[in-house]
Amino acid sequence: MFKPNNHIRITIKGIVQGVGFRPFVYREALAYGVKGFVINTSEGVVIEAHAQECEPFIQALREHLPPRARIDSMEITPCPFAEYENFEIRESTLGHGGVAIPLDSALCPACEAEMDDPSNRRYGYPFINCTDCGPRYTIIQTPPYDRVRTSMKHFTMCSECMSEYTDPTSRRYHAEPISCPNCGPKLSFTDNKGEAIEGDPVTLAVEMLKAGKIIALKGLGGFHLMCDATSDTAVEELRLRKHRRAKPLAVMFSSLEQLEMYVSINEVEKMHITGVIKPIVIVDAVRGTNLSSLIAPRIDRLGVFLPYTPLHRLLFEHIDFPLVATSANISDEPIMIRASEIVERLGNVIDGIVDHDRTIINALDDAVIQIAEGRVVMLRMGRGYAPHTFALSNEKPILALGAHQKSSIALGVKDNMILSGHIGDLGSVEADGYFERTVQTFKRFYEAEPSLLAHDLHPQYASSVYAVAQKREHYGIQHHYAHILACMAEYGLSEKVLGFAFDGTGYGEDGNLWGGEVMIADVHGYERIGYLKPMALLGGDKAIKEPRRIALSLLFECFSLDEVMELKIPTVEAFLPHEIRTLHHMWSKNINAPHSSSMGRLFDAVASLGGFVQSLDYEGQGGMMMESFVDDSIVTPFAFEIENGVIDVSPMVKEIITLGAENQTIIASRFLSTIEAIMEHFANMNSELPIVIGGGVFQNRVLMSRLYRRFGEGRFYAQQQTPINDGSIALGQLYYALHNTKETNER
Ligand SMILES: [Zn+2]
Ligand SMILES: [Zn+2]
Repeated sequence: MFKPNNHIRITIKGIVQGVGFRPFVYREALAYGVKGFVINTSEGVVIEAHAQECEPFIQALREHLPPRARIDSMEITPCPFAEYENFEIRESTLGHGGVAIPLDSALCPACEAEMDDPSNRRYGYPFINCTDCGPRYTIIQTPPYDRVRTSMKHFTMCSECMSEYTDPTSRRYHAEPISCPNCGPKLSFTDNKGEAIEGDPVTLAVEMLKAGKIIALKGLGGFHLMCDATSDTAVEELRLRKHRRAKPLAVMFSSLEQLEMYVSINEVEKMHITGVIKPIVIVDAVRGTNLSSLIAPRIDRLGVFLPYTPLHRLLFEHIDFPLVATSANISDEPIMIRASEIVERLGNVIDGIVDHDRTIINALDDAVIQIAEGRVVMLRMGRGYAPHTFALSNEKPILALGAHQKSSIALGVKDNMILSGHIGDLGSVEADGYFERTVQTFKRFYEAEPSLLAHDLHPQYASSVYAVAQKREHYGIQHHYAHILACMAEYGLSEKVLGFAFDGTGYGEDGNLWGGEVMIADVHGYERIGYLKPMALLGGDKAIKEPRRIALSLLFECFSLDEVMELKIPTVEAFLPHEIRTLHHMWSKNINAPHSSSMGRLFDAVASLGGFVQSLDYEGQGGMMMESFVDDSIVTPFAFEIENGVIDVSPMVKEIITLGAENQTIIASRFLSTIEAIMEHFANMNSELPIVIGGGVFQNRVLMSRLYRRFGEGRFYAQQQTPINDGSIALGQLYYALHNTKETNER
């Protein structure tokens, strides 16, 4: 009997390509006796379903979703009755534009089991994958996602692979990177000059690692540099050769069991570590293990991950120690994807290279996350998370070019906002080149020729220079406002919010360096209602590397020169007397002493006053070193004054001096409470507004945990899907431009 709700057309949008979605629909249709078809279209996946009862089928679609799929919307309309013999998967009629690009996935358990099974034809095969796992974005040249438009096009499927690929009941039905030892990519091994070395590449790599050598190994989105994480000599050699003094290195473990011997993790952390993406998760290190102390000097947190490609897994079959696995790049440049590049630029760092002939088309670093009060805080959006797509309709294509450090771009097109993965710090030929290539890739992927560009206000950022050079309509958007907008974008907020943008330094509307900003903002503009009283950065950029210089200028605010010279504190002791006099002269005459309201710089200054660190090896080191000392039972804030929105921390500086560097735990703990108290002051004054935060300072896990506890659910918004640091400035810029194009204003 004909009932309208049993003859329906279902249109599904979201992440539905390259995740085994159509075979999943097929299997559910068979299970529920549904006839009709499923097809990929430019509008999303369309299903025509005819059955006695369609409701259980619809419910199953929602509930049994494949791990990497995401349903953003499901539209169900009645359709005319039609006679179908069965349920079929129809060939795609894909346009581009509105379709989300499929994301890379870590090796799945089913493929793991196959590669361990000696009777399986993919036993020990380093490129095994299926519709649930394997490379996606990193191998796509141009959508729609079909093998001919990926770097797998060079490999002709053998008959066995072909029959799996075309069988709707197979785990590899339309798994585009499908291959096997007979027809797929091959591993190779070379020395650091690119000369091929005979032998089994995995065995050669294992021998080198066991001998304390450093290898480069090709992963999904680029090469890793790897060495024995328990060997001081190997790690020291890596640091020396790479000129990376102290910045923590990530460690890969063979298994969860091994990982848990070195770090202490909770259930949420475990879920992410073992999940379908397997990002680097920063967790608490266990003290007294055999891990080299040079991996994360003077920090009790460790970035850890598990093997996420079959190749990593093969490597660990013969190695029983954890491996340092750090991105192959030079300082904060983009990750390298070609062996020739490794030879040319890192040849003096490594001893051997494990390469293969499945080309990486789109470079993508590993994602880095940490967990605060059960929520994700994303520090680097990379493999498995990027590009990140949000549904939001807009009229004309808009391109946002982001900031300068932790560069990323964002594109607004048709029904989506798309944020790219981590590009790196701009300002080098490699980074700027990769930035421009990402722009081209996005234009091609989403068939967009943006007529409007959004960029940072800083005129010298490479991204701003690029935007202006395009000779199109362009908007400059204040950096810290963009931080607040990015969080608003993630949660779809558009009305007034109370925003805290606590960051390193960014260009302010008045030409000064901002970074400790409190604002009331909506999608059309903001009012700066509070900011940290600007501090002199004595020596400009030098002060950013040397927290003692910022601390000294805070001391000059509180004391006379003679009094400062008398202070027996780490900041003062870190200088020679004549240096202090020179810096005082600079401070009083305002010579090479730009002022900044940056909260990140205040963290650095306190790190100096408390004797944690005087000169930095990497960005954010001051905050990270203090984090290790925080005692959550110490919650009394230091004194501070707020007048006309200007936050003066001089009273705190005096209290810290009185406490002295022997009270590091108290200083670190009470300082975080002070930040909370400052935020609470503004929160109470604007109690009707939602609280939104953004900026690099919130990478501090202890601070984030405390904020979640203090402000709780309902009112407090912090990014979880996109980076909380400059990695999502582009998203904020895009969100502004989307709401402020001429068309929207005219309405
Ligand atoms: Zn798989
Ligand atoms: Zn094959």
